Amino acid sequence: MQAEIVTIGTELLLGQIVDTNAAYLAEHLAAIGLNVYRKTTVGDNELRIAEVVRNALRRSDIVITSGGLGPTVDDKTREAIAVATNRKLVLNQGLLEHIEAFFKKRGRSIGDNNRRQAYLPRNAIPIHNPVGTAPGFIVKHQDSYVISLPGVPRELYHLMEHAVLPFLQQELGRESIIKSRILRTAGIGESDIDRQISDLEESVNPTVGLAAHTGSVDIRISAKATSGDEAEQMLDEMEGRIRERIGDMIFGLGDVTIEAVVAEMLAERELCVAILETNTGGVLASRLSAVPHGLEVLNRALVISSEKATAQFLSEGKAMLDTRDEVTQALAARLREHTQVNVGIAITGDTDPGVGPYNERTGDTYIALDAAGTTTGWHLRVGGVSKVARSWITSSALDMVRRFLLGTLE
Ligand code: ATP
Ligand code: MG
Repeated sequence: MQAEIVTIGTELLLGQIVDTNAAYLAEHLAAIGLNVYRKTTVGDNELRIAEVVRNALRRSDIVITSGGLGPTVDDKTREAIAVATNRKLVLNQGLLEHIEAFFKKRGRSIGDNNRRQAYLPRNAIPIHNPVGTAPGFIVKHQDSYVISLPGVPRELYHLMEHAVLPFLQQELGRESIIKSRILRTAGIGESDIDRQISDLEESVNPTVGLAAHTGSVDIRISAKATSGDEAEQMLDEMEGRIRERIGDMIFGLGDVTIEAVVAEMLAERELCVAILETNTGGVLASRLSAVPHGLEVLNRALVISSEKATAQFLSEGKAMLDTRDEVTQALAARLREHTQVNVGIAITGDTDPGVGPYNERTGDTYIALDAAGTTTGWHLRVGGVSKVARSWITSSALDMVRRFLLGTLE
């Protein structure tokens, strides 16, 4: 079955609000196995909405609209759906009572404009809205459905979860169920992962896809099957194949973050860390301290320039170190000794990165980790103080701690 999404609102076209409803709807429709081939955004104009919906109904089995169901004159969705499906708007007595009760309960008086919300295209199935006044509705048109939901995200989520998804699942029958699993990696680029699993990315069922975020890359596996168990089995099998190739890189599944994984691993082992950061400006400490156990395992964090850190921490024997890698390793070791923690982490990097051959900002960052006298250093070709650079560098550092704790660090 095919679905498509129509988000309605001039504010969306003007870029004044971000279309988070479209993303939410797309994700939840995909999760129940509906293929979404198109998303359209249209302004608060009755004829244009009607035209978009009419075209969408020709192509798709399910059309979901968001927005324009409010009581004000710029809320045109009810009228537009009536036009698109060749129906009249008629008063739905049940809805009217519901809306009146909603107002009464809050001690507010109801206006004519609110009564407008009780008018639906003939034979529409109303969707009561217990978290707001704008009701949704479903209209069956030929062999397709158009489902209209209010634009306020909280209301849209509520109606989707409690009414629309159960309705669609029933319509779909149980013959096709889709399950997804996300394997999360940090500190490795999308192209590196792609190189190692490109053949698996061609698989048709389950599918394997990559999504890059700053500092992390997700591998999403989706399996279509006749039962949940069968889908899970397919996911397990594909996950196993991916892990054979890049198992070390996967720090967790689903929503988990690298900082949460690292904090938990440190806490389990009763280890604590001290951090020295230069160009990342405390982002590593901030990420670690924001998760459960984070502050427990973070003994101390210091933000300082590379030069000051070098002068302050390495006054003796400094001349003998000639590379930045060596300096960073020495800083991590000195930090650990100085604070008596289990693991010292030092990050030194360029605050003002150079410009690369494709006009990209380059620069260098060095990360070192010292634990019980073993010091390891890495060089990243990322520098600077931008949000993206900081995210990559700190994710890489966290992943190094993780791999160090697992003993899989080369
Ligand atoms: P209301 O009864 O509140 O008027 P409505 O169904 O008419 O509900 P809209 O007027 O279109 O909804 O939108 C109400 C608010 O919901 C918008 O001001 C905006 O903040 C938010 N909103 C609308 N559409 C979207 C969207 N696609 N993504 C995210 N937020 C949205
Ligand atoms: Mg409105």
